[in-house]
Amino acid sequence: MLLFTPGPTPVPEVVRQSMATSTLHHRTPEFELIFKEARERLLKLFDMPQCVMLASSGTGAMQSCVLNLCKTKALTINSGKFGERFGKIADAMNIPKVELSYDWDTPASVQDVKDTLEKDSDIDAIFIQICESAGGLRHPVEEIAKMAKSINPDIMIVADGITAVGVERIDTTNIDALIAGSQKALMLPPGLAMIGLSNDAVLKIDKGADYYFNLSSEIKKQKQNTTAYTAPTTLIIGLNAIFSEIEKDGFDVLYKNTILRADATGKALESIGFKIYPKTPALSMSTVFDDDAEPIRKLLKSKYGVNIAGGQDHLKGKLFRINQMGLIPVYESAWVVNAIELALSDLGRREYDGSASKVFNEIYYKD
Ligand SMILES: *Cc1c(COP(=O)(O)O)cnc(C)c1O
Repeated sequence: MLLFTPGPTPVPEVVRQSMATSTLHHRTPEFELIFKEARERLLKLFDMPQCVMLASSGTGAMQSCVLNLCKTKALTINSGKFGERFGKIADAMNIPKVELSYDWDTPASVQDVKDTLEKDSDIDAIFIQICESAGGLRHPVEEIAKMAKSINPDIMIVADGITAVGVERIDTTNIDALIAGSQKALMLPPGLAMIGLSNDAVLKIDKGADYYFNLSSEIKKQKQNTTAYTAPTTLIIGLNAIFSEIEKDGFDVLYKNTILRADATGKALESIGFKIYPKTPALSMSTVFDDDAEPIRKLLKSKYGVNIAGGQDHLKGKLFRINQMGLIPVYESAWVVNAIELALSDLGRREYDGSASKVFNEIYYKD
């Protein structure tokens, strides 16, 4: 079965093999060397001066950023489940918040954020997804961050890049915390969260907040290539392995192939009558709004050997989402759009003529 959900993504064979070693003790020079290597690669990937790795799913990193980077009031952007989650975290931590809500296909407006910041000077941190995975939507994070810093240079911009880091090059000029997770673009098993941090973020963290998610304790330890608590050693070994795999051709080639694949998939789906759901599609996934999303997904699974994701909450049964993150063999993506066209024919909606696959290949191989 081809795993084409936008997280978890498949773990490449070489990465799985790299993790099949006997357990290393985390307090050894041997592991510190592995940690150092992973840390240096992450700093480069984030293009930021500091970073931490946490043994948790992505949500743990989101929570640690809320706890450590917001002291007075949070502005959260809700265009879907993950943006909503930042707001729920603030509520659970008793941190005052203002939330801007949008339909799941609609990106945050720079003007709305500006108006909100000008009205409420208590807001000291903005929490936003780069890609809101609920609807496969790309927020204009860089623009929002730039505008917000022009109003208040001390404001913290926390960008959830769990479905963006490793998908596209992210301009971190005005970003203070950039969150990544292992099970999405980095093609690792779940359980490792990573945060890139600006110098301003490190200053604001100061002595840190919380115990397990205290970013100050982690920064202090991780600068010495160790962790405050037991490190997820196996996942960090895997992280080095996926870096090595991606570095064979380089991140620029991965980014370029991701753009091509996402573009080819989107146009192939449109060519057989589908509607791309978000107004500003992210590169990490192709998201389609369709009343037959569930029957299509079922046919893909039972007949064509492909697992794609559906929609959540009010969009359950109305969306399907196809992964574009990671090192995806192009023939797999070409098969996915072809399988979808076959499923349409099974449902009696459209006669199969190979259009999806044709359009996909023409676009992917156009040069
Ligand atoms: C997957 C995902 C997360 C993290 O979810 P976890 O299940 O905690 O790993 C956070 N934000 C976005 C945008 C995601 O896609």
